[in-house]
Amino acid sequence: MLTAAAPDAPYVEAAAAVRGVAYRCRLCGAPVIFKPGRVRAAHFAHRPDGTCAFGAPMSVAHLAAQQRLAEALRARGLTVTLEAPLTGEAGDRRIDVLAWPPDHPAARVAVEVQASDLGADQIAARTASYQAMAVAPLWLRLLDFGSVRAVQTLPFRGTIWIERYRARAWERWAHDHLGGRLWFMDSGTGRVWRGAFVTAHRGRERAASRIRGEAPTRGADWTEAVQWADLELEGPWAVEDLRLGRGEVVGPDGKARRFAWFVPEGEEAERPPFQPTVRARFEREAAGESRHLEAQVDGDWIPATTDGARADWRTVRLTRRPALRPLHRR
Ligand SMILES: [Zn+2]
Repeated sequence: MLTAAAPDAPYVEAAAAVRGVAYRCRLCGAPVIFKPGRVRAAHFAHRPDGTCAFGAPMSVAHLAAQQRLAEALRARGLTVTLEAPLTGEAGDRRIDVLAWPPDHPAARVAVEVQASDLGADQIAARTASYQAMAVAPLWLRLLDFGSVRAVQTLPFRGTIWIERYRARAWERWAHDHLGGRLWFMDSGTGRVWRGAFVTAHRGRERAASRIRGEAPTRGADWTEAVQWADLELEGPWAVEDLRLGRGEVVGPDGKARRFAWFVPEGEEAERPPFQPTVRARFEREAAGESRHLEAQVDGDWIPATTDGARADWRTVRLTRRPALRPLHRR
């Protein structure tokens, strides 16, 4: 964890801690060990036999992400506190990063860095706890983008396209109920991406299309693939280049919820919910159907044939190519 209590202060961050002080856990009061950062970020640790809710060890990537977010939000003039206690149905736990404008303390935003798995019921319960505290959550998926294979780019849009992303239940829930986007942080580069899930499809080639003597068709029988989503990723942005937006959105269950999102530098604070801007279209073939990807560019849906992504896609922001006039509109 990144915070502890000192004998003379109830809240000390590891980045400002010194050796030789008897630090204690802010939740259970047990002595904690200060580990100054050399290889990994400075942090505090419970003794290994502890059962405290604050005691669960965090990965290096998680601690680094928390620290990076805190610094960037403070640089924007926000008041930031780490590991604020969250109580409610979801049980005792800590908010990774809680931020608010100094002149508007009621406008609190919780940025939650999530790397491990979480059930849809768990994220729903935690989000409900935030609502009860009048806090707007922003769920940030911490992912090693170096492990992502088969990355493509969508021409005209300057975005990354990943087919068959194995979206976890909590990721889908956050995407669907909190504005139609999910934010990702690359644990390798620390850069942030804006993700949108699009329904993935599984195609089974029609036997008829393989009849000897006939020209092969691209026809297939398509079904929705529930265990995958196709993922469009826009970015990457440095955390320092992101502001916070805060508002309310009605989810597919008809419930209104407070939530927060990042607004990249140079963008207007777009009002959610964000609508999908990529879709699959199906076309009748001699046998079955063929699937075509379409992307919305300047209000038009145009064919989006994908090509491979450039090698430096994790660090360099793709430039949006000017849209060509579509050959035919639908
Ligand atoms: Zn404790």
